[in-house]
Amino acid sequence: MSTPIGIFGGTFDPVHYGHLRAALEARELLGLEDFRLLPAGTPPHREGTMASSQDRLNMLKLAVAAYPEFRVDDREVRREGRSFMADTLAEIRAEAGKTPVLLIIGQDAANELDSWHDWKSLFGLAHMVIMRRPGARPAWKGELRERMENGLVQKAGHLRNTPSGSVLPLQITQLAISSTDIRERMRAGLSARFLMPDSVIDYIDQHQLYFAGQVRKG
Ligand code: ATP
Repeated sequence: MSTPIGIFGGTFDPVHYGHLRAALEARELLGLEDFRLLPAGTPPHREGTMASSQDRLNMLKLAVAAYPEFRVDDREVRREGRSFMADTLAEIRAEAGKTPVLLIIGQDAANELDSWHDWKSLFGLAHMVIMRRPGARPAWKGELRERMENGLVQKAGHLRNTPSGSVLPLQITQLAISSTDIRERMRAGLSARFLMPDSVIDYIDQHQLYFAGQVRKG
């Protein structure tokens, strides 16, 4: 079986060091050569995004431009209409054959997995890697809890034996940074410097994203 494919999905609205540090640590701990950041196109499971999918993709590309170990998979942005992770993973699975595919998500996202379109199919398409995140503890109930507990493994090596279906909790450095917080700061005219790469801040300034008319302090 060839080396696993890691998929770190998100809205990245905008991308920040919480995402980037988590991605770096996940890639290292899981020993992945093929690691992809995959921005959501039109997210079906939240109240829309503030920046367009093209802007979110552009910011993500800027953030990892100097780091070839991170690929940006733009298939959801290129796809017309609504995007569902189940469809995206089915596409990746078809390309990957029996190679393990790892869907890497934070605990907050994992807690809501049963609200995702066709969520049960995800376990047949990929392994779940669940990263701790400040303020989020495992909080699954019913069938989601059953699926998570049934698939639970404690060693990354187990994810290499089968294409999908296991669940690995991953301890990573806890950075309490969120896109919501960054958008709020920017709306209030406050700086987001050192929460995200300067190249992304410059892009936001140039394109007047998340902007409410105040003069921002750097
Ligand atoms: P928002 O505040 O708009 O909900 P977010 O900061 O949670 O955004 P997303 O793009 O929704 O960012 O997150 C993509 C993925 O990255 C999710 O699986 C999320 O749990 C994870 N993630 C985001 N921020 C962190 C962080 N600081 N530490 C660990 N994981 C994170």
